[in-house]
Amino acid sequence: MFKPLPRNDNGCGWLTSLPSRQPNPALHAEHSADLVIIGAGYTGLSAARHFAALNPNKKVIVLEAQLAAEGASARNSGYLVDSTLNDGHMSDTGLQQYRDKYALNKAGLDCVADLVTKHNIDCDWDACGKFHATAVPAHEAKLQRFSKLLGELDLAHEIVSDNALHYRLGSNYYCSALWTQGGVMLQPAKLGRAYIDLLPENVELYENSPVLQWQPAPTGVQVSTTMGRVQAGQLLIAVNGFMAAGKIERERAFPLTLTASMTRPLTDQEFASIGSPKPWGVLSAQAMGATVRLTADRRIMVRNTVEVWPKMNMAGRQLMRRQAMHIRGLQRRFPSFDGSLFDSLWSGITCISGNNGQIFTRLQDNVYAAGCYNGGGIGLATLFGEQMAHMMSGQMTDTIAMIEARPKPTRLPPQPFLGWGVRLRLMRDRVLARKEN
Ligand SMILES: Cc1cc2nc3c(=O)[nH]c(=O)nc-3n(C[C@H](O)[C@H](O)[C@H](O)COP(=O)(O)OP(=O)(O)OC[C@H]3O[C@@H](n4cnc5c(N)ncnc54)[C@H](O)[C@@H]3O)c2cc1C
Repeated sequence: MFKPLPRNDNGCGWLTSLPSRQPNPALHAEHSADLVIIGAGYTGLSAARHFAALNPNKKVIVLEAQLAAEGASARNSGYLVDSTLNDGHMSDTGLQQYRDKYALNKAGLDCVADLVTKHNIDCDWDACGKFHATAVPAHEAKLQRFSKLLGELDLAHEIVSDNALHYRLGSNYYCSALWTQGGVMLQPAKLGRAYIDLLPENVELYENSPVLQWQPAPTGVQVSTTMGRVQAGQLLIAVNGFMAAGKIERERAFPLTLTASMTRPLTDQEFASIGSPKPWGVLSAQAMGATVRLTADRRIMVRNTVEVWPKMNMAGRQLMRRQAMHIRGLQRRFPSFDGSLFDSLWSGITCISGNNGQIFTRLQDNVYAAGCYNGGGIGLATLFGEQMAHMMSGQMTDTIAMIEARPKPTRLPPQPFLGWGVRLRLMRDRVLARKEN
């Protein structure tokens, strides 16, 4: 049984910059399919595309509560990453664990790269790498430890400091950064749109069709929306941050609400005033620090809030209050710019677990779930969707073996203790990151 979902806000700058799209109709009446998928983000759309290609004579139905690829899959910051920040490792086991995590992320990145190349997807792909930056000299040691780890894995990277860094970013704010070659910056909503366009003929996508419940049926499963019903052989639940709202793996994964703002394109004069830098993406060296991007069309995006928010999506005054923090983040980095440059503001929901483990599982006969990518979902969601398609087609792959070998999300404490614990942890991280926001 799913709780009713709050509506997405309509302020996401990645989406508002795209041409409008005619949504597909909602589900009405009775339907049947071989596979039904709940959720049309990167995971659900990748699974649908790949399953339909592997099984051209089978029919797939995708049910999306709102508009396809307009949830987290459009609202994210657009970092497609292979390496993730790590504070060094203490042992050979630690090194091996990082190597395995890296291998999975790299497989996700390659999966998206193959699709982008094969279908010539326009998603502002820029293999410019990414920066992990700090404004606090005391945090530079962490970057040095990360550098040592990347060196042990032979991953190309560079520490950039002071003037050289200021020149590359067009901002004097950070004192040091570690640049990794492996990251790609992209326009997330364009990628999501492409995933819709790539759906083959044997996939039917229904939008504005929130699933209320699913249950076992003689044919496999029965899924009900407000106005229709689907009988299917198999079901994939690909709702990521909404898993808890459907009582799925809620003792292992939980949602967090993030907010971001993006400026209009800088004028020639504004751009020249910061030294006309090439596009870049900065992640903080501190958990809870800001994610900031300069895009190819000269917009600056700031995402610097993460919260437990029971209503999930934010709107109105709550969002405006978050924008005050985005403005502070912008002005710290670019003192000559003010908040009037922001022309978009949005929230998005992501899903995390206690130990960074992901969900890729068979819940019961004919029912599968994939999600909980802990902030790294562009590559992993695409990969997990495709690999789920193999699994639901009865095919084992090396990649499935690699996914299944990763640690599963650990069991979380029950509510309300979980909520209190996460809030406390976020509060602590916010204090530690107060100079990085
Ligand atoms: C602000 C933000 C920044 C992020 N930055 C990055 C980043 O830079 N790099 C990165 O790799 N990842 C990032 N992420 C994470 C990434 O966006 C997600 O991991 C990824 O989009 C997950 O894709 P998904 O398809 O599993 O889930 P989603 O895109 O959330 O799709 C799930 C879909 O299920 C639908 N749904 C939910 N319940 C129902 C129901 N009952 N019936 C029907 N449909 C339902 C929802 O409407 C939604 O469209 C970020 C996330 C956020 C929010």
